[in-house]
Amino acid sequence: MIISSHVVITAAAVAPFLTHPFTAPKAAAIFGIAVLSHYLADAVPHWDYQLSSVVEGGEAGRDRRGFSRDRRLFLKDLSRAALDGLLGMAIAFLMLNLSFTWWDLAVLSWISFSAILPDIASMFFIIFPCAPFSWFYKAHVVHTSYRWKKGPWSGALFQATTVAAIVLVLKGLFRFL
Ligand SMILES: [Zn+2]
Repeated sequence: MIISSHVVITAAAVAPFLTHPFTAPKAAAIFGIAVLSHYLADAVPHWDYQLSSVVEGGEAGRDRRGFSRDRRLFLKDLSRAALDGLLGMAIAFLMLNLSFTWWDLAVLSWISFSAILPDIASMFFIIFPCAPFSWFYKAHVVHTSYRWKKGPWSGALFQATTVAAIVLVLKGLFRFL
């Protein structure tokens, strides 16, 4: 799924842990649930935008995937990912009723980072094809076997509906809204 979907689903899933006082075990629980929820969410059939900076062969014509030499493609992917992430953080911020304190923003950042760690690790795998990045990469390949192949609008709509349904179920379970 796209970054914002992962952030929103994780925010809903960890809502019960956001009570005061916020302790280290709660932060650890958030991390574990975030990584688990990432793979569970990716297991649901979904649409993803393709990264244009990751190409077959990549730099120096290697025999595996790599980053394109064209830095503009990388910047394009980076800015889209940043927008995607910020959108997810904004929705999570409203959903969890957070405030603009350093503490709430730090907790939101921790939730967001943990939620997209499997994707970050899979990107690192392209540069460093070894453990522990390979674990995340392999887990990803297994869990994203089905992809929505139609255009971005129907894909985004389909994913927004899926995420809303998941959040509603979690809301019913945890009553956080
Ligand atoms: Zn993922």
